[in-house]
Amino acid sequence: MSTREEVKHDDRDPHDPSAQVPSEIPAGLDRRKFIMRSAVISAAAVMNGCSRAETERTAPPPAAAASESRVQGLAPAPAVPLDKDLNVVKKGKGPVMTTVDEFYKVGPGPSSSHTIGPMRITYDFYQQAAKLPADTLAKATRLQVNLFGSLSATGKGHGTERAALAGLVGKEPATVDPKFLDGLRDNPNQVFPVKLGNKSIDVSLKDVIYDATKGDFKHPNTMTVKLLAGNDVLLEQEYYSVGGGFIEWKGYTPPKKNQPKYPFATMKELRAHADNNKTTIAKIMLANEMSIAGRSEEEVNAFVDKIINAMVATVKSGLAMSEDDVLPGPIKLHSKAASVYKRALDDKYESDRGIGGLSAFALAASEENGRGHLVITAPTGGSAGVMPSLVYGLMEVRKVDRQKIRDGMLAAAGVGYLCKHHATLSAAEGGCQAEIGVASSMAAALIATAYDAPSLVVENAAESALEHHLGMTCDPVAGYVQVPCIERCAFGAVKAWTAYQIASNEIASRHRVNFDETVQALAQTAKDMNSKYKETSEAGLAQSVTLC
Ligand code: SF4
Repeated sequence: MSTREEVKHDDRDPHDPSAQVPSEIPAGLDRRKFIMRSAVISAAAVMNGCSRAETERTAPPPAAAASESRVQGLAPAPAVPLDKDLNVVKKGKGPVMTTVDEFYKVGPGPSSSHTIGPMRITYDFYQQAAKLPADTLAKATRLQVNLFGSLSATGKGHGTERAALAGLVGKEPATVDPKFLDGLRDNPNQVFPVKLGNKSIDVSLKDVIYDATKGDFKHPNTMTVKLLAGNDVLLEQEYYSVGGGFIEWKGYTPPKKNQPKYPFATMKELRAHADNNKTTIAKIMLANEMSIAGRSEEEVNAFVDKIINAMVATVKSGLAMSEDDVLPGPIKLHSKAASVYKRALDDKYESDRGIGGLSAFALAASEENGRGHLVITAPTGGSAGVMPSLVYGLMEVRKVDRQKIRDGMLAAAGVGYLCKHHATLSAAEGGCQAEIGVASSMAAALIATAYDAPSLVVENAAESALEHHLGMTCDPVAGYVQVPCIERCAFGAVKAWTAYQIASNEIASRHRVNFDETVQALAQTAKDMNSKYKETSEAGLAQSVTLC
């Protein structure tokens, strides 16, 4: 399908063989090599059915082609195989089956993997324990949570022990009053009775143990929950908080679901469904949500609306905080969303007002996360400022129609699902590229969709935003999701806008890197990244910033 840009800037017939061979010999190539190179490009174009621009994606630049060995590099580079043991690879089988209600979750900040995940885990255990036979429960004396790996290394800064305790006493992430968690922080010696059948067991923060930070864990965010009778274990489960608030456990198998109407495992396949059916990525996503989860369009829309409204609310409440507010924790970080917003409005140039305002919206939602207030995983708590800033900016400032925002949320979800499917959303597995990088990529897809961009532009925008976060490490100062996280959300939002600007103004078919290649790079980089930079607070800013 032609894009607006192709019609405007590139009206050559891609099927015309003469269009495949440039008429001038580039500097740095002799004639023989140039003819050989052109012939290979043309042959590959015919075989692949590609236009020259697409085929040249695999060809070396003229300077590189001056070397005979590099001319051999005209064949596509073999895909880099990913380690079969990498958690992120094991999951990339079959079509994407994630649904929006699994993906966008409302819960207490500051981290989907360190607060929402652990809270869901202990709540799950609490529910299981409550179903044990009465004679087993009669023997119970204690509940105990052990945190391992990254949960132990940085859990204190995230308030993981408070979230874990809240789940244990029967509180759910989406409905917990943040004041309950604030109260636990201010008065950590509180004791709560947990009712299990006829039995009541007292629990407190002392029952949540920060255990080994290093070891041979199945996942970097591992925890165990036990129901004990003295030293005897009545019930024990090993859990993993795998990012984005998703949880798994030892022996986990994904829940059975209906087949998607339009199965896809790559952006290429997703986009092909959209283009072949003369529709949008968002509509393909909607059809799949309906078929996989067995929901009506109204039900999907109602859920997406709930998330949109929560995103708008989190930006509003963040902007409403006092300019003198100080976030919890040892950094003593001053809130800056309200100051940045007010001052940005006074900027002389409209473009500065736009960038400043968008940054302020992201800061506002991210600071709410830092306060442990309710946020929305999109895809995680640490990145919870990125998508809300664009949703707020498009809806509340630019007054974009709600249906277009809904579509944008679905296209963004598709981008996030693919990153989860083939790579990771967990900073403990992949560093910050997996959080802010994926959030920025999703946000770019949201903007492009909301502005009715063709599917290729949606892909290109998402690709570009993700590409320019590759390699970004996770090194939260003092283990608190504040520095660099809060400002990083603002940068993720602005980069998303930049990615959309480039994608909607370039010639779409000439975009050099496709989304699937970049997701593969995300997975590979996650695997190769030094573990010090995976949410352990052992390196980077966490080392260099001095707290006084
Ligand atoms: S540095 Fe990035 S990945 Fe790490 S906690 Fe902060 S936002 Fe999350």
